[in-house]
Amino acid sequence: MAKIKMETPIVEMDGDEMTRILWKMIKKHLLEPFVELNTKYYDLGLEYRNETSDQVTIDSANAVKKYKVAVKCATITPNAARMEEYNLKEMWKSPNGTIRAILDGTVFRAPIVVKGIEPCVKNWKKPITIARHAYGDVYKNTEMKIPGAGKVELVYTAEDGTEIRELVHNYTSTGVAQGMHNLNDSIESFARSCFNYALDIKQDLWFATKDTISKKYDHTFKDIFQEIFDAEYKEKFEKAGIVYFYTLIDDAVARVMKSEGGYVWACKNYDGDVMSDMISSAFGSLAMMTSVLVSPEGYYEYEAAHGTVQRHYYKHLKGEETSTNSVATIFAWTGALRKRGEIDGNKELMEFASRLEKATIDTIEEGKMTKDLALITTVEKPVVLSSEEFIKAVAEKLV
Ligand code: NAP
Ligand code: MG
Repeated sequence: MAKIKMETPIVEMDGDEMTRILWKMIKKHLLEPFVELNTKYYDLGLEYRNETSDQVTIDSANAVKKYKVAVKCATITPNAARMEEYNLKEMWKSPNGTIRAILDGTVFRAPIVVKGIEPCVKNWKKPITIARHAYGDVYKNTEMKIPGAGKVELVYTAEDGTEIRELVHNYTSTGVAQGMHNLNDSIESFARSCFNYALDIKQDLWFATKDTISKKYDHTFKDIFQEIFDAEYKEKFEKAGIVYFYTLIDDAVARVMKSEGGYVWACKNYDGDVMSDMISSAFGSLAMMTSVLVSPEGYYEYEAAHGTVQRHYYKHLKGEETSTNSVATIFAWTGALRKRGEIDGNKELMEFASRLEKATIDTIEEGKMTKDLALITTVEKPVVLSSEEFIKAVAEKLV
């Protein structure tokens, strides 16, 4: 069979530890035999990031601006222990943070739903995608411990020196205070990324905040979403047969629990942090979550939501067999290949992406899976495969 051609490259960002091992296996068994892979390769493994003083991360993000589509392997975010382990020159920042800062995107996380791995919420039949605003609020706050009686105020000083003051509280004894902020520009990009992504995957978009209590802060989020929707997206949504709706966060949580899934749920920064962990654990496994960074300009970077699976890597280094789940990393590749195909009008590539996803899901539904899934599946007597055996079992379905 002739291999599928790719006219335009995708940006390939290699990573660390066990996921770097899976990366090679996926390319060897699932991609290279079928596709003439055309990628711009960037090694974001910690060693090379250190060697280039993290320039490689910046270069890779800039390449996404050129080629529009990227696939990324999980990477180590250094901490004190990693400084020593890798003898680092500096505690390099999280690559995901660096890439996100350059592309200014929103992260969408969605579970891969398969029969046999049942969500705890029994009426959830379709994936729920969380879109998390990745700027500001409590993540860029200023906090204070209040030592005793006195008053705390919020003061805005305009460039011409005029002031606006709001009393936060008149303290009669000790306490705490917090100031946080957000930017209309950032909220606007967030809104556009969400509307575009919902149109992309043809699913409804839900958005919720606590605007009844936070009448200026959260209400601004609500208003910006509504204004952009009315001005730019209303007709496109109608045409696509999808809906945008805003509700109070309490109401959203209740509705999510009773829903059957199949929509995008846009969350403010903190809500998205918490809710995405809830959604992924309730759907069964962190190893079955995909993640895509979508920029308002329409750049896409696909990855797995989990980390580098360090514990498995150390076993691998000792020569022990591992059973690490490669599904989310496979889906990162299929997401990127499908998007490349869509942008380039390469139908064959899009079909291959779908075929690979189906082969992966079918393999699990037939009872062949890695250990993490075998522990939670409702399939009787699952066959537990090693990391490589699972990938090879998927490959058998592709030929
Ligand atoms: P992790 O790599 O996600 O792994 C945590 C645990 O979850 C694993 O030890 C494993 O449990 C289970 N697990 C996660 N993915 C799995 C998979 N594909 N198959 C089977 N089991 C899986 O998180 P971490 O250990 O906290 O972080 C390790 C490194 O990853 C850190 O250096 C961190 O900076 C980095 N990280 C990177 C990203 C990213 O690049 N997007 C995201 C998160 C973390 P058992 O050990 O019980 O089997
Ligand atoms: Mg979290």
